[in-house]
Amino acid sequence: VTRCAYVNGRYVPHADAAVHIEDRGYQFADGVYEVIALRRGRLLDEEAHMARLDRSLAELEIAPAMSHAALGLVMRELVRRNRLGDGNLYLQMTRGVAPRDHGFPAGVETSLVLTARRAKPQPQALVEQGVAVVTMPDIRWGRCDIKSIALLPNVLGKQAARAAGAYEAWLVDRDGHVTEGTSSNAWIVTAAGRLVTRKTGNDILAGVTRRSLIALLGEQGLALEERPFTVAEAKAAREALLTSTTSAVLAVTRIDGAKVGGGRPGKLFGALRRIYLDYADGAGASG
Ligand code: PMP
Repeated sequence: VTRCAYVNGRYVPHADAAVHIEDRGYQFADGVYEVIALRRGRLLDEEAHMARLDRSLAELEIAPAMSHAALGLVMRELVRRNRLGDGNLYLQMTRGVAPRDHGFPAGVETSLVLTARRAKPQPQALVEQGVAVVTMPDIRWGRCDIKSIALLPNVLGKQAARAAGAYEAWLVDRDGHVTEGTSSNAWIVTAAGRLVTRKTGNDILAGVTRRSLIALLGEQGLALEERPFTVAEAKAAREALLTSTTSAVLAVTRIDGAKVGGGRPGKLFGALRRIYLDYADGAGASG
């Protein structure tokens, strides 16, 4: 099948899909996005992604391009046209096309682009050995709760991680606390076996994977502390983890080259990954 994208009302061959040069997404990164996992062709945590999308749009005063119901149909049609099973669906909404001027334009329509792609199976080595992270200063803006397409600090952080042979960069605020990864949320397990992750606020993205995992923890009666932790605390932790739509749950076994939890994925990680994947393959995915 020819890979297909959705651009402002049309399904088009992916190779030919384009937006106008004066789209404010291109000119100003004036837009928001979502990434939704596809599990056997079904959308994982669709409602939570739609709720976060609405919130991002509202915070930026961008009008939704269409209703949830219509968007649900378009997303499903795109999945169908691409014959996708396991994969990821990417959605961008921008403030639209207008002559370049920083202030909001009047009377423009929100641009909507949807793309989807197959996901390669997650390499077993990542799951079995865990991943390395490097830490670096969080140089992002004050509204990281908005899932904005302005991702330059995240891009630079991820590239620095790759250059260092690491999977992810953990971003550190001025007080020495980890905020989150460049495209994932950060967690540790204390010596007492308690899971810790930063609470949501303007300084991190409220991850949908984070949210679902917290709900599952509740069902399992597992304790959670929502508070900041320092790099030193993370290095000394019993376990460390990261969560995201595209990585699910992975163990972090090295931080800046230092082994965490003896350098092997821990027991709680194993349990949480299993619980999460059971959920993702079952109840979490819709139609
Ligand atoms: N933080 C940032 C900065 C991200 O880009 C992502 C990935 N979208 C996450 C956290 C994880 O969010 P989610 O679980 O919704 O993918």
